[in-house]
Amino acid sequence: MDNSKRPQIGVSACLLGEQVRFDGGHKKSSLLTDRLRDVFDFQAFCPEVAIGMGIPRRPIRLIERGGQVRAVGSKDADLDVTDKLAGYAASLEAKISHLDGYVFMQKSPSCGVFRVKLYNESGDAVIGVRAGVFAAKVMQAHPNMPIEEAGRLNEPALLENFVVRVCCYREWKEQVLAAPSPDKLQAFHRRYKYLLMAHHPQDQILLGNIAAQARAGSMKGVLEQYETSLMRCLAHRAQRKNHFHVLTNISKVLRKTMSAWQKREWDAVLTDYRHGVIPLVAPLTLLKHYCSATQDGFLAEQAYLQPYPSHLGLRNAI
Ligand code: SF4
Repeated sequence: MDNSKRPQIGVSACLLGEQVRFDGGHKKSSLLTDRLRDVFDFQAFCPEVAIGMGIPRRPIRLIERGGQVRAVGSKDADLDVTDKLAGYAASLEAKISHLDGYVFMQKSPSCGVFRVKLYNESGDAVIGVRAGVFAAKVMQAHPNMPIEEAGRLNEPALLENFVVRVCCYREWKEQVLAAPSPDKLQAFHRRYKYLLMAHHPQDQILLGNIAAQARAGSMKGVLEQYETSLMRCLAHRAQRKNHFHVLTNISKVLRKTMSAWQKREWDAVLTDYRHGVIPLVAPLTLLKHYCSATQDGFLAEQAYLQPYPSHLGLRNAI
């Protein structure tokens, strides 16, 4: 990947090995530091250190108080850093508005996204789960930005989904938003047709209808609608049955030029993929080979064939 086009990812600083946790430790993720660093550039943030809590510091947790979620000291509920954390998130706007994604540390009352424990006011019972205060503010300000928790990235399908979303979001901003035109929007949609279909066929049709409405000079509303629907579409994990459907669709075009032997080979590989015997990389490798032989321009440009750098090997595991 060209360095100037490397996606820029915000990360909880402790995940990069920075010793910023309340106890002076870190939560280094080798997936980030060894594998994804190869294709992404990281920008680290530790909100608790940034608001002056120091290292080491008193741990905090989320409680419900007066109908509000507050981040307070685990042992000293008078220590309330909710407003400082929210204020820090707001102050970062200029530094994070260019980001193509964000990986947060799970379970943290500041950085967690999905299942941070929420306690009752006295702190003796868990009454629900919430996003951490800082993460919630970042997500509120950037509802379309791909977000994930580091722990969930150990699941191959979630990792693949996050990388797809990040790379697509980056390309969307570069290829369309940087200098929008109806032609660019429609070219983008053409290139992503099969990838979107693999993630959510109905949304792919909806996105096509939105792109078709684009008219020069009045694109703001269409772009906003397209971006929101695009990221919602990709947030659906591409299921094996949808991949099978897309592979079958693409191969309909290619069958016209395949020999009888190639058709048998393709059908056998597709059947094995459908039944979960082989991973997605197997039919895709064959498909790319057939595509390059036909020199079909529409197929050759499809993001589905190569949505992110292939050396990440993510399609070996799904
Ligand atoms: S989870 Fe967030 S607040 Fe906690 S140490 Fe890591 S970066 Fe800092």
